[in-house]
Amino acid sequence: MTLKIGVIGTGAIGQDHIRRLTNTLTGAEVVAVNDINLDETKAFVAREKLGAKVYDNGQELIRASDVDALVVTSWGPSHAEFVLGSIAAGKPVFCEKPLATTAKDARSIVDAEIRHGRKLVQVGFMRRYDAGYRMLKAALQAGTIGEALMVHCAHRNPSVPDTYTGDMALTDSFVHEIDVLRWLLDDDYVTAQVVNGRDTRRAEGGLRDPHFVLLETRKGIRIDVEIYVNCQYGYDIQCQVVGETGIANLPEPMSLLLRKDASLSQAILTDWKQRFIASYDVELQEWINSTRDGEVHGPTSWDGYFASVTADACVEAKRTRAIVPISIDDTPAFYARR
Ligand code: NAP
Repeated sequence: MTLKIGVIGTGAIGQDHIRRLTNTLTGAEVVAVNDINLDETKAFVAREKLGAKVYDNGQELIRASDVDALVVTSWGPSHAEFVLGSIAAGKPVFCEKPLATTAKDARSIVDAEIRHGRKLVQVGFMRRYDAGYRMLKAALQAGTIGEALMVHCAHRNPSVPDTYTGDMALTDSFVHEIDVLRWLLDDDYVTAQVVNGRDTRRAEGGLRDPHFVLLETRKGIRIDVEIYVNCQYGYDIQCQVVGETGIANLPEPMSLLLRKDASLSQAILTDWKQRFIASYDVELQEWINSTRDGEVHGPTSWDGYFASVTADACVEAKRTRAIVPISIDDTPAFYARR
């Protein structure tokens, strides 16, 4: 059976996902699209020669009888209404991160899904599908370095656009570490602390950059993450787990090692899309497959909610310079980890 998909939001990642659903992945077809920029969406559909119907209303698209499942790639603040609409229609939905822009809205999605009685929501935390992170997790699960004790990470972007404001380093960039480290360690966070030091002169418009985040988990694992979004030299994601008997590092992306002009060099990527391009393909293919089986195997709405609560705690920790407790209930049985 081909999964008939409706996509809400045909901006940058919406277009990428539509192209991969149409041209790269198997088992799905995009039959409906919606965006508030109707003319641009119609032009995109024509340019890509898609057979999809263009809707001028997202909720109407969700209810369309030929739409089996939804992909939500609209602006973050609109995610909650479309995910709630999908749950009300009893349809599976893949929602790009963030699940919602407030923890309260994310919690309302969790509650609606539990009331519905079957998991329908997957959140687009694609790092869980990266081959390197999967190797790291397999090594931890196999006990290769004993129990994890500490994790050192860096999240570096060459620069950020003018639209990158306020606390986005925590809520938009760091949120990927929030999810992937929790998954990697199979653990939850209990406290957060955020430290700012000397800012780069390239941080504009009142941005603080870099940030240094310290997390503590229930098992007592200590995590430090440098988030430096104007590092200039490349897009560089580092993760090192220190265990009882060894150290495991996230592998570097494959790249040619050159000896040339009296130097030894290896290119570093500059674009996050390139770094995680294969993960997006794996993520959506696995979502298609599990959705066709009536299951959710990826990050759940509980994971989206947890990420939201943790990001909020980090924002508060930055503002107050205090160590902020992350208070959240135990994972409900409905969302028990696989
Ligand atoms: P984008 O280029 O701005 O695209 C979002 C699109 O949604 C825009 O066309 C926007 O219109 C439209 N939109 C806004 N409100 C809408 C509504 N109520 N109904 C229908 N369409 C609406 O942004 P993007 O970069 O594609 O990001 C989209 C989402 O994906 C964000 O939540 C982002 O955080 C997430 N994302 C995730 C990753 C990842 O690594 N997992 C990577 C990139 C993006 P306007 O332009 O007129 O507002």
